[in-house]
Amino acid sequence: MNNLAAKLSPEQYENNFAEIHPPFSHNSAVAEANRCLYCYDSPCTKACPTHIDIPAFIKKIASGNLLGSAKTILESNWSALTCAKACPVQVLCEGACVYNDKEEPAIQIGRLQRFAIDNYFKSGMPKLFSPKEKNGKSVGVIGSGPAGLACAAELSLLGYKVTIYEANKIPGGLNTWGIAPYKTRQADSLKEVELVKSFGVEIKTEILVGKTISFEKLSKTHDAVFIGIGLGESTNLKIPGEELNGVVNAIDFIEEVKKEKWDSVKVGKRVAVIGAGNTSIDAATESKRLGADEVMILYRRSREEMSAYDFEFELAKNDGVIFHFLTAPKRIIGNSSVEGIECTKMKLGEPDEKGKRKPIEIPGSEFVMPVDMVIKAIGQSAKTKFLNSITGLQVENGRVVVNPDNYQTGNEKVFAGGDCINGGKEVVNAAYDGKMAAHGIDGYLNKTAL
Ligand code: SF4
Repeated sequence: MNNLAAKLSPEQYENNFAEIHPPFSHNSAVAEANRCLYCYDSPCTKACPTHIDIPAFIKKIASGNLLGSAKTILESNWSALTCAKACPVQVLCEGACVYNDKEEPAIQIGRLQRFAIDNYFKSGMPKLFSPKEKNGKSVGVIGSGPAGLACAAELSLLGYKVTIYEANKIPGGLNTWGIAPYKTRQADSLKEVELVKSFGVEIKTEILVGKTISFEKLSKTHDAVFIGIGLGESTNLKIPGEELNGVVNAIDFIEEVKKEKWDSVKVGKRVAVIGAGNTSIDAATESKRLGADEVMILYRRSREEMSAYDFEFELAKNDGVIFHFLTAPKRIIGNSSVEGIECTKMKLGEPDEKGKRKPIEIPGSEFVMPVDMVIKAIGQSAKTKFLNSITGLQVENGRVVVNPDNYQTGNEKVFAGGDCINGGKEVVNAAYDGKMAAHGIDGYLNKTAL
Protein backbone atom coordinates (compact mmCIF):
# COMPACT_ATOMS: atom_id res chain seq x y z
CA MET A 1 0.00 0.00 0.00
CA ASN A 2 1.38 3.42 -0.91
CA ASN A 3 -0.02 5.49 1.93
CA LEU A 4 -0.74 3.95 5.29
CA ALA A 5 -2.86 5.72 7.88
CA ALA A 6 -0.88 7.16 10.79
CA LYS A 7 -0.66 4.89 13.86
CA LEU A 8 -2.74 5.88 16.86
CA SER A 9 -1.82 5.62 20.52
CA PRO A 10 -2.90 2.44 22.38
CA GLU A 11 -5.42 4.57 24.32
CA GLN A 12 -6.89 5.96 21.09
CA TYR A 13 -7.34 2.45 19.64
CA GLU A 14 -9.00 1.21 22.83
CA ASN A 15 -11.20 4.28 22.88
CA ASN A 16 -12.16 3.88 19.21
CA PHE A 17 -13.04 0.21 19.68
CA ALA A 18 -14.77 0.64 23.05
CA GLU A 19 -18.19 -1.00 23.30
CA ILE A 20 -20.96 1.03 21.73
CA HIS A 21 -23.50 -0.39 24.20
CA PRO A 22 -21.91 -0.39 27.66
CA PRO A 23 -23.26 -2.80 30.29
CA PHE A 24 -26.03 -1.94 32.75
CA SER A 25 -25.19 -1.42 36.40
CA HIS A 26 -27.21 -3.66 38.75
CA ASN A 27 -29.57 -0.84 39.73
CA SER A 28 -30.17 0.30 36.14
CA ALA A 29 -30.84 -3.28 35.02
CA VAL A 30 -33.43 -3.81 37.75
CA ALA A 31 -35.02 -0.44 37.01
CA GLU A 32 -35.22 -1.27 33.29
CA ALA A 33 -36.58 -4.76 34.05
CA ASN A 34 -39.28 -3.20 36.19
CA ARG A 35 -40.46 -1.12 33.21
CA CYS A 36 -41.41 -4.31 31.32
CA LEU A 37 -45.15 -4.90 31.09
CA TYR A 38 -44.69 -8.70 30.84
CA CYS A 39 -47.12 -8.74 27.92
CA TYR A 40 -49.12 -11.98 27.77
CA ASP A 41 -48.61 -12.33 24.01
CA SER A 42 -45.02 -10.97 24.16
CA PRO A 43 -44.47 -9.69 20.61
CA CYS A 44 -40.78 -9.36 21.53
CA THR A 45 -40.53 -13.16 21.92
CA LYS A 46 -42.25 -13.71 18.59
CA ALA A 47 -39.82 -11.31 16.90
CA CYS A 48 -36.76 -13.11 18.30
CA PRO A 49 -35.65 -15.79 15.81
CA THR A 50 -34.73 -18.07 18.75
CA HIS A 51 -38.00 -17.24 20.59
CA ILE A 52 -36.40 -16.53 23.96
CA ASP A 53 -39.11 -16.14 26.62
CA ILE A 54 -38.25 -12.46 27.03
CA PRO A 55 -40.81 -11.40 29.66
CA ALA A 56 -39.81 -14.45 31.75
CA PHE A 57 -36.10 -13.66 31.74
CA ILE A 58 -36.76 -9.96 32.40
CA LYS A 59 -39.08 -10.80 35.31
CA LYS A 60 -36.32 -12.95 36.83
CA ILE A 61 -33.92 -10.01 36.65
CA ALA A 62 -36.49 -7.82 38.42
CA SER A 63 -36.92 -10.42 41.17
CA GLY A 64 -33.18 -10.97 41.63
CA ASN A 65 -33.09 -14.50 40.15
CA LEU A 66 -30.20 -13.81 37.78
CA LEU A 67 -29.16 -17.43 37.24
CA GLY A 68 -32.75 -18.37 36.48
CA SER A 69 -32.82 -15.52 33.98
CA ALA A 70 -29.64 -16.79 32.29
CA LYS A 71 -31.09 -20.32 32.14
CA THR A 72 -34.26 -19.05 30.43
CA ILE A 73 -32.14 -17.27 27.83
CA LEU A 74 -29.67 -20.12 27.23
CA GLU A 75 -32.45 -22.68 26.86
CA SER A 76 -33.29 -20.90 23.60
CA ASN A 77 -29.96 -19.48 22.46
CA TRP A 78 -26.42 -20.80 23.04
CA SER A 79 -24.91 -17.63 21.51
CA ALA A 80 -26.76 -15.49 24.04
CA LEU A 81 -23.87 -13.18 24.92
CA THR A 82 -22.91 -12.52 21.30
CA CYS A 83 -26.53 -11.96 20.35
CA ALA A 84 -27.14 -9.64 23.32
CA LYS A 85 -24.38 -7.41 22.00
CA ALA A 86 -24.54 -7.87 18.22
CA CYS A 87 -28.17 -8.62 17.32
CA PRO A 88 -29.99 -5.92 15.34
CA VAL A 89 -32.42 -5.60 18.27
CA GLN A 90 -33.93 -2.46 16.74
CA VAL A 91 -35.50 -4.57 14.00
CA LEU A 92 -36.07 -7.72 16.09
CA CYS A 93 -37.15 -7.93 19.77
CA GLU A 94 -36.88 -4.25 20.69
CA GLY A 95 -38.47 -3.25 17.41
CA ALA A 96 -41.52 -5.32 18.40
CA CYS A 97 -41.78 -4.03 21.99
CA VAL A 98 -45.21 -2.54 22.72
CA TYR A 99 -43.59 0.61 24.10
CA ASN A 100 -42.89 1.63 20.49
CA ASP A 101 -46.65 2.08 20.02
CA LYS A 102 -46.81 4.25 23.14
CA GLU A 103 -44.05 6.46 21.76
CA GLU A 104 -41.86 5.60 24.72
CA PRO A 105 -38.43 3.95 24.52
CA ALA A 106 -38.60 0.19 23.96
CA ILE A 107 -37.34 -2.05 26.77
CA GLN A 108 -33.59 -2.48 26.30
CA ILE A 109 -33.86 -6.23 25.88
CA GLY A 110 -30.36 -6.70 24.45
CA ARG A 111 -28.69 -4.95 27.37
CA LEU A 112 -30.84 -6.85 29.90
CA GLN A 113 -29.95 -10.14 28.23
CA ARG A 114 -26.30 -9.15 28.41
CA PHE A 115 -26.68 -8.29 32.09
CA ALA A 116 -28.03 -11.77 32.92
CA ILE A 117 -25.49 -13.64 30.78
CA ASP A 118 -22.53 -11.51 31.93
CA ASN A 119 -23.50 -12.34 35.51
CA TYR A 120 -23.66 -16.06 34.62
CA PHE A 121 -20.14 -16.07 33.18
CA LYS A 122 -18.78 -13.84 35.96
CA SER A 123 -20.24 -16.33 38.48
CA GLY A 124 -18.03 -19.03 36.94
CA MET A 125 -20.67 -20.72 34.72
CA PRO A 126 -22.54 -22.55 37.50
CA LYS A 127 -24.15 -25.79 36.37
CA LEU A 128 -27.60 -25.02 34.98
CA PHE A 129 -27.89 -27.93 32.53
CA SER A 130 -27.25 -31.66 32.94
CA PRO A 131 -26.47 -33.75 29.86
CA LYS A 132 -28.43 -37.03 29.64
CA GLU A 133 -26.53 -40.31 29.93
CA LYS A 134 -24.56 -41.12 26.77
CA ASN A 135 -26.71 -43.05 24.28
CA GLY A 136 -23.79 -44.65 22.39
CA LYS A 137 -24.22 -42.53 19.26
CA SER A 138 -21.93 -39.87 17.93
CA VAL A 139 -22.38 -36.82 15.73
CA GLY A 140 -19.69 -34.90 13.85
CA VAL A 141 -20.23 -31.16 13.58
CA ILE A 142 -18.29 -29.26 10.92
CA GLY A 143 -17.71 -25.67 11.99
CA SER A 144 -17.74 -24.11 15.47
CA GLY A 145 -19.69 -20.95 14.63
CA PRO A 146 -23.08 -20.19 16.18
CA ALA A 147 -24.88 -22.94 14.22
CA GLY A 148 -22.29 -25.62 15.01
CA LEU A 149 -22.06 -24.69 18.68
CA ALA A 150 -25.85 -24.68 19.13
CA CYS A 151 -26.18 -28.04 17.40
CA ALA A 152 -23.36 -29.52 19.50
CA ALA A 153 -24.75 -28.16 22.78
CA GLU A 154 -28.23 -29.53 22.18
CA LEU A 155 -27.01 -32.95 21.01
CA SER A 156 -24.64 -33.26 23.93
CA LEU A 157 -27.46 -32.52 26.39
CA LEU A 158 -29.54 -35.18 24.59
CA GLY A 159 -26.82 -37.80 25.29
CA TYR A 160 -24.83 -37.83 22.04
CA LYS A 161 -21.05 -37.85 21.84
CA VAL A 162 -20.27 -34.76 19.78
CA THR A 163 -17.05 -33.79 18.05
CA ILE A 164 -16.71 -30.41 16.37
CA TYR A 165 -14.20 -30.08 13.52
CA GLU A 166 -12.96 -26.51 13.20
CA ALA A 167 -10.59 -25.29 10.47
CA ASN A 168 -9.32 -22.33 12.46
CA LYS A 169 -6.89 -22.42 15.37
CA ILE A 170 -9.34 -20.49 17.57
CA PRO A 171 -12.95 -21.75 17.57
CA GLY A 172 -16.17 -19.71 17.46
CA GLY A 173 -16.49 -19.01 13.72
CA LEU A 174 -18.33 -15.80 12.90
CA ASN A 175 -18.76 -14.92 16.60
CA THR A 176 -14.99 -15.04 17.13
CA TRP A 177 -13.83 -13.64 13.80
CA GLY A 178 -16.58 -11.73 12.03
CA ILE A 179 -18.18 -9.13 14.31
CA ALA A 180 -16.83 -5.61 14.80
CA PRO A 181 -14.88 -5.35 18.10
CA TYR A 182 -16.96 -2.40 19.30
CA LYS A 183 -19.88 -4.83 19.37
CA THR A 184 -18.24 -8.01 20.70
CA ARG A 185 -14.72 -9.11 21.55
CA GLN A 186 -13.19 -12.54 20.94
CA ALA A 187 -13.31 -13.17 24.69
CA ASP A 188 -17.14 -13.08 24.58
CA SER A 189 -17.31 -15.73 21.90
CA LEU A 190 -14.75 -17.91 23.69
CA LYS A 191 -16.89 -17.91 26.84
CA GLU A 192 -19.71 -19.39 24.78
CA VAL A 193 -17.31 -21.98 23.37
CA GLU A 194 -16.25 -22.93 26.91
CA LEU A 195 -19.88 -23.34 27.95
CA VAL A 196 -20.55 -25.78 25.11
CA LYS A 197 -17.33 -27.65 25.89
CA SER A 198 -18.48 -27.98 29.52
CA PHE A 199 -21.24 -30.32 28.24
CA GLY A 200 -18.56 -32.75 27.04
CA VAL A 201 -18.31 -31.54 23.44
CA GLU A 202 -14.85 -32.08 21.95
CA ILE A 203 -13.53 -29.40 19.59
CA LYS A 204 -10.77 -30.42 17.20
CA THR A 205 -9.20 -27.25 15.81
CA GLU A 206 -7.11 -26.80 12.65
CA ILE A 207 -9.02 -29.60 10.96
CA LEU A 208 -10.18 -28.60 7.51
CA VAL A 209 -12.71 -31.22 6.46
CA GLY A 210 -12.12 -32.07 2.81
CA LYS A 211 -8.38 -31.50 3.24
CA THR A 212 -7.05 -32.58 6.65
CA ILE A 213 -9.68 -35.33 6.79
CA SER A 214 -12.00 -36.45 4.00
CA PHE A 215 -15.73 -35.97 4.39
CA GLU A 216 -16.26 -39.70 3.70
CA LYS A 217 -13.97 -40.69 6.56
CA LEU A 218 -15.63 -38.25 8.93
CA SER A 219 -19.06 -39.43 7.85
CA LYS A 220 -18.12 -43.08 8.53
CA THR A 221 -16.83 -42.13 12.00
CA HIS A 222 -20.20 -40.69 13.08
CA ASP A 223 -23.86 -41.68 13.01
CA ALA A 224 -24.79 -38.27 11.62
CA VAL A 225 -23.03 -35.11 10.48
CA PHE A 226 -24.03 -31.46 10.81
CA ILE A 227 -22.59 -28.90 8.40
CA GLY A 228 -22.34 -25.37 9.81
CA ILE A 229 -19.49 -23.98 7.75
CA GLY A 230 -20.90 -20.56 6.95
CA LEU A 231 -19.83 -18.95 3.70
CA GLY A 232 -16.51 -18.67 1.89
CA GLU A 233 -14.43 -15.89 0.45
CA SER A 234 -15.65 -12.39 -0.41
CA THR A 235 -16.97 -12.26 -3.97
CA ASN A 236 -14.58 -10.75 -6.52
CA LEU A 237 -15.37 -7.45 -8.23
CA LYS A 238 -14.20 -8.78 -11.61
CA ILE A 239 -12.75 -5.43 -12.67
CA PRO A 240 -9.21 -4.54 -13.83
CA GLY A 241 -6.74 -3.76 -11.05
CA GLU A 242 -8.22 -6.16 -8.52
CA GLU A 243 -4.82 -7.83 -8.13
CA LEU A 244 -3.09 -4.63 -6.98
CA ASN A 245 -1.46 -4.33 -3.58
CA GLY A 246 -3.98 -2.61 -1.31
CA VAL A 247 -7.07 -4.46 -2.57
CA VAL A 248 -8.32 -6.69 0.23
CA ASN A 249 -11.45 -8.63 0.93
CA ALA A 250 -13.64 -7.50 3.81
CA ILE A 251 -13.68 -10.88 5.57
CA ASP A 252 -9.87 -11.00 5.82
CA PHE A 253 -9.73 -7.38 6.92
CA ILE A 254 -12.34 -7.84 9.65
CA GLU A 255 -10.53 -11.00 10.86
CA GLU A 256 -7.29 -9.02 11.19
CA VAL A 257 -9.08 -6.35 13.21
CA LYS A 258 -10.60 -9.04 15.46
CA LYS A 259 -7.13 -10.07 16.60
CA GLU A 260 -7.16 -6.79 18.55
CA LYS A 261 -3.59 -5.96 17.57
CA TRP A 262 -4.81 -2.70 16.15
CA ASP A 263 -1.46 -1.12 15.29
CA SER A 264 -0.45 -4.06 13.09
CA VAL A 265 -3.54 -3.86 10.86
CA LYS A 266 -2.69 -2.21 7.55
CA VAL A 267 -5.15 0.48 6.57
CA GLY A 268 -4.81 3.16 3.92
CA LYS A 269 -5.22 6.91 4.36
CA ARG A 270 -8.06 6.94 1.83
CA VAL A 271 -10.17 3.81 1.75
CA ALA A 272 -12.96 2.81 -0.65
CA VAL A 273 -15.31 0.06 0.53
CA ILE A 274 -17.32 -1.52 -2.26
CA GLY A 275 -20.83 -2.65 -1.27
CA ALA A 276 -23.43 -1.48 1.25
CA GLY A 277 -24.33 -4.45 3.43
CA ASN A 278 -23.58 -5.17 7.10
CA THR A 279 -20.03 -6.33 6.31
CA SER A 280 -19.32 -3.14 4.33
CA ILE A 281 -20.43 -1.01 7.28
CA ASP A 282 -18.19 -2.98 9.66
CA ALA A 283 -15.19 -2.72 7.31
CA ALA A 284 -15.76 1.02 6.77
CA THR A 285 -16.25 1.94 10.43
CA GLU A 286 -13.28 -0.21 11.45
CA SER A 287 -11.07 1.52 8.84
CA LYS A 288 -12.10 4.89 10.23
CA ARG A 289 -11.52 3.78 13.83
CA LEU A 290 -8.07 2.47 12.84
CA GLY A 291 -7.13 5.98 11.75
CA ALA A 292 -7.94 6.27 8.02
CA ASP A 293 -8.37 9.93 7.04
CA GLU A 294 -11.18 9.31 4.59
CA VAL A 295 -13.41 6.27 4.15
CA MET A 296 -16.10 6.03 1.52
CA ILE A 297 -18.69 3.42 0.71
CA LEU A 298 -19.43 3.00 -2.98
CA TYR A 299 -22.78 1.45 -3.83
CA ARG A 300 -24.25 1.04 -7.27
CA ARG A 301 -27.84 1.39 -6.12
CA SER A 302 -29.50 4.01 -3.87
CA ARG A 303 -29.96 4.36 -0.10
CA GLU A 304 -33.33 2.57 -0.34
CA GLU A 305 -31.83 -0.63 -1.74
CA MET A 306 -28.85 -0.99 0.59
CA SER A 307 -29.11 -4.04 2.86
CA ALA A 308 -27.41 -2.43 5.88
CA TYR A 309 -29.82 -1.49 8.65
CA ASP A 310 -30.73 2.16 9.38
CA PHE A 311 -28.82 2.13 12.67
CA GLU A 312 -25.71 0.86 10.86
CA PHE A 313 -26.07 3.64 8.28
CA GLU A 314 -26.28 6.18 11.12
CA LEU A 315 -23.30 4.62 12.93
CA ALA A 316 -21.17 4.83 9.78
CA LYS A 317 -22.19 8.42 9.11
CA ASN A 318 -21.38 9.34 12.72
CA ASP A 319 -17.95 7.77 12.24
CA GLY A 320 -17.46 10.09 9.26
CA VAL A 321 -17.90 7.49 6.51
CA ILE A 322 -18.95 9.09 3.23
CA PHE A 323 -21.59 7.32 1.12
CA HIS A 324 -21.46 7.49 -2.67
CA PHE A 325 -24.74 6.02 -3.90
CA LEU A 326 -25.45 5.15 -7.55
CA THR A 327 -21.71 4.74 -8.01
CA ALA A 328 -20.06 1.62 -9.42
CA PRO A 329 -16.34 0.85 -9.63
CA LYS A 330 -15.03 0.24 -13.16
CA ARG A 331 -11.29 -0.10 -12.65
CA ILE A 332 -8.75 0.09 -9.86
CA ILE A 333 -5.80 2.23 -10.87
CA GLY A 334 -2.15 1.90 -9.84
CA ASN A 335 1.24 0.47 -10.78
CA SER A 336 1.87 -2.12 -8.13
CA SER A 337 -0.28 -0.52 -5.40
CA VAL A 338 -3.70 1.09 -5.47
CA GLU A 339 -3.60 4.78 -6.39
CA GLY A 340 -7.18 5.43 -7.37
CA ILE A 341 -10.49 3.99 -8.42
CA GLU A 342 -12.38 4.82 -11.58
CA CYS A 343 -16.12 4.83 -11.08
CA THR A 344 -19.17 5.45 -13.17
CA LYS A 345 -22.48 6.98 -12.15
CA MET A 346 -25.55 4.76 -12.32
CA LYS A 347 -29.33 5.20 -12.54
CA LEU A 348 -31.98 2.72 -11.48
CA GLY A 349 -34.05 0.79 -14.00
CA GLU A 350 -36.73 -1.88 -13.61
CA PRO A 351 -36.66 -4.34 -10.66
CA ASP A 352 -34.56 -7.48 -11.23
CA GLU A 353 -35.51 -11.09 -10.35
CA LYS A 354 -34.92 -10.32 -6.63
CA GLY A 355 -37.17 -7.24 -6.79
CA LYS A 356 -34.25 -4.78 -6.54
CA ARG A 357 -34.17 -2.03 -9.16
CA LYS A 358 -31.46 -2.75 -11.66
CA PRO A 359 -28.54 -0.29 -11.76
CA ILE A 360 -27.81 1.02 -15.27
CA GLU A 361 -24.56 2.73 -16.18
CA ILE A 362 -24.78 6.36 -17.31
CA PRO A 363 -22.47 6.61 -20.35
CA GLY A 364 -19.73 9.24 -20.14
CA SER A 365 -20.12 9.70 -16.36
CA GLU A 366 -16.76 8.15 -15.43
CA PHE A 367 -14.63 9.84 -12.81
CA VAL A 368 -11.56 8.94 -10.76
CA MET A 369 -11.14 9.16 -6.99
CA PRO A 370 -7.69 8.91 -5.41
CA VAL A 371 -7.58 6.04 -2.85
CA ASP A 372 -4.84 3.88 -1.29
CA MET A 373 -6.96 0.89 -0.34
CA VAL A 374 -10.01 -0.90 -1.72
CA ILE A 375 -12.05 -3.25 0.48
CA LYS A 376 -14.29 -5.68 -1.40
CA ALA A 377 -17.57 -6.28 0.45
CA ILE A 378 -20.11 -7.26 -2.20
CA GLY A 379 -21.02 -10.59 -0.61
CA GLN A 380 -19.50 -13.98 0.01
CA SER A 381 -19.46 -17.05 -2.16
CA ALA A 382 -20.46 -20.50 -0.93
CA LYS A 383 -17.89 -23.25 -0.40
CA THR A 384 -19.37 -24.99 -3.41
CA LYS A 385 -16.38 -27.20 -4.23
CA PHE A 386 -16.51 -28.87 -0.82
CA LEU A 387 -20.32 -28.99 -0.70
CA ASN A 388 -20.61 -30.46 -4.21
CA SER A 389 -18.18 -33.23 -3.22
CA ILE A 390 -20.68 -34.63 -0.70
CA THR A 391 -22.84 -37.38 -2.16
CA GLY A 392 -26.53 -36.53 -2.25
CA LEU A 393 -26.12 -32.93 -1.11
CA GLN A 394 -28.03 -30.41 -3.23
CA VAL A 395 -26.66 -26.89 -3.59
CA GLU A 396 -28.87 -24.26 -5.23
CA ASN A 397 -27.80 -20.61 -5.71
CA GLY A 398 -24.89 -21.27 -3.38
CA ARG A 399 -27.11 -22.57 -0.57
CA VAL A 400 -27.34 -26.10 0.78
CA VAL A 401 -30.90 -27.33 0.32
CA VAL A 402 -32.44 -28.75 3.52
CA ASN A 403 -35.84 -30.01 4.58
CA PRO A 404 -37.15 -26.99 6.57
CA ASP A 405 -38.82 -29.31 9.10
CA ASN A 406 -35.67 -31.08 10.28
CA TYR A 407 -32.70 -29.51 8.43
CA GLN A 408 -31.87 -32.81 6.73
CA THR A 409 -30.09 -32.57 3.37
CA GLY A 410 -30.46 -34.86 0.35
CA ASN A 411 -27.95 -37.16 2.08
CA GLU A 412 -30.02 -38.65 4.91
CA LYS A 413 -27.28 -38.68 7.53
CA VAL A 414 -26.14 -35.12 6.74
CA PHE A 415 -27.86 -32.05 8.21
CA ALA A 416 -26.97 -28.37 7.72
CA GLY A 417 -27.78 -24.93 9.12
CA GLY A 418 -26.68 -21.31 9.41
CA ASP A 419 -25.25 -19.15 6.65
CA CYS A 420 -24.54 -22.14 4.36
CA ILE A 421 -28.30 -22.72 4.04
CA ASN A 422 -29.58 -19.13 4.22
CA GLY A 423 -26.87 -17.31 2.25
CA GLY A 424 -25.85 -15.10 5.19
CA LYS A 425 -28.20 -13.90 7.93
CA GLU A 426 -27.70 -12.92 11.58
CA VAL A 427 -25.92 -14.90 14.31
CA VAL A 428 -29.28 -15.43 15.97
CA ASN A 429 -30.64 -17.19 12.85
CA ALA A 430 -27.65 -19.52 12.79
CA ALA A 431 -28.04 -20.26 16.52
CA TYR A 432 -31.68 -21.21 15.92
CA ASP A 433 -30.85 -23.38 12.89
CA GLY A 434 -28.20 -25.29 14.83
CA LYS A 435 -30.55 -25.98 17.71
CA MET A 436 -33.41 -27.12 15.47
CA ALA A 437 -31.08 -29.26 13.36
CA ALA A 438 -29.94 -31.02 16.55
CA HIS A 439 -33.53 -32.06 17.15
CA GLY A 440 -33.81 -33.10 13.51
CA ILE A 441 -30.73 -35.30 13.95
CA ASP A 442 -32.15 -36.72 17.18
CA GLY A 443 -35.40 -37.58 15.38
CA TYR A 444 -33.48 -39.24 12.53
CA LEU A 445 -31.20 -41.27 14.79
CA ASN A 446 -34.04 -42.37 17.05
CA LYS A 447 -35.97 -43.51 13.99
CA THR A 448 -33.01 -45.43 12.56
CA ALA A 449 -32.54 -47.12 15.95
CA LEU A 450 -36.05 -48.65 15.81
FE1 SF4 B 1 -41.74 -6.35 27.95
FE2 SF4 B 1 -41.77 -4.94 25.64
FE3 SF4 B 1 -41.72 -7.62 25.55
FE4 SF4 B 1 -43.93 -6.34 26.42
S1 SF4 B 1 -43.10 -6.29 24.36
S2 SF4 B 1 -42.97 -8.17 27.35
S3 SF4 B 1 -43.01 -4.56 27.45
S4 SF4 B 1 -40.13 -6.29 26.40
